[in-house]
Amino acid sequence: MAAGALPAGPAYGFGLYVHWPYCTRICPYCDFNVYAAKDRDNGALVQALRDDLARHARWLPEHPKLGSIYFGGGTPSLMAATDLAALLEDAEKLFGIETGAEITLEANPNDVLSADLEGWAAAGINRLSIGIQSLDEAALTFLGRDHDVSGAREAVVRAGRHFPNHSVDLIYARPGQSPAEWETELSEALALGAPHLSLYELTIAERTAFGKRAGRGELVPMPDDDQADLYELTQQVADAHGLPAYEVSNHARSADVQSRHNLTYWRGGDWIGLGPGAHGRLTIGGQRIATHAALKPADYQASVVETEKPVGETLSPIGNARELLALGLRPDEGFDAARIEALTGTPLLNDALETFMEQGLVLREGTRIALTPEGRLLADRIAAELSP
Ligand code: SF4
Repeated sequence: MAAGALPAGPAYGFGLYVHWPYCTRICPYCDFNVYAAKDRDNGALVQALRDDLARHARWLPEHPKLGSIYFGGGTPSLMAATDLAALLEDAEKLFGIETGAEITLEANPNDVLSADLEGWAAAGINRLSIGIQSLDEAALTFLGRDHDVSGAREAVVRAGRHFPNHSVDLIYARPGQSPAEWETELSEALALGAPHLSLYELTIAERTAFGKRAGRGELVPMPDDDQADLYELTQQVADAHGLPAYEVSNHARSADVQSRHNLTYWRGGDWIGLGPGAHGRLTIGGQRIATHAALKPADYQASVVETEKPVGETLSPIGNARELLALGLRPDEGFDAARIEALTGTPLLNDALETFMEQGLVLREGTRIALTPEGRLLADRIAAELSP
């Protein structure tokens, strides 16, 4: 860590996250803060997002320009291009946006097919993250998606024509999925040519429709060992196609198309979180503040009007250190142990770290600590055991 530098903060990246909480329908595995997009007037929520950005600017008089902006959700591709443009114009006026900043819109395939992609580009979007989730018709039905396989394929091809920098999301380790089926599906997805892939194992959270079905014994998750086998297969297939993992679940063709916004999270940078349920991390007066917005859209909209400052708590040094370690282990670049030690006041080198190094799960070069490809599979357990 450079002398005088803080262990976390905008020196490691500065971004803006905007959460759009509505979806045309709610997928049975989804554990995000989402709501069905009935016929509604979005104007009040868009105004609240703009007001929230303005109050962040009043609260944060000193900051660098934004290096990344990410519209996530929910389904932000349901937002009007004029609303995206208005938020981006505000961001430019209030914070400044770096030349070449990454500006991502998460998009559902059906929206990519029906939207005016030039309109998105004109609004300032320069990267799409497309949630195709599967290239298997039965799996798309199982996952409750409202697009089909041909729509998923066409959406990626159409996106690529307008946005060379685009990413595709897939969900694997579904109940009963065989290695051969996954290998075929992943190879087909790679052949679509996206320079970035996010490949997530299906997780079944208790409060979701899948969680309830699992609780009743109607859905049996894939056993852990089988999931681990599919994870390893994923690495082999993606490596062979020239998209190695640069993070536990994320693969990129080259460093310039790695997700700059997500790297800010993993590197311990700062970001503003706007929208219902959004979290942020901001460094003010040397303190790292964790902000969190009200979950329900109506409560969020009211809170922006009623409170001058976003709601947040100062992270304790130990809380900050734990978070830096858990997130810093995820990318293959790892993290600088000196940043953790500056917060805890004690060396991170402990028996658990030595053991993981002997097992070939963790690498150490100077003060930099990173997972090996074998260690990535156990990222959460390793983070928990190394945690200060
Ligand atoms: S579209 Fe995405 S955010 Fe919306 S319910 Fe489905 S998984 Fe969740």
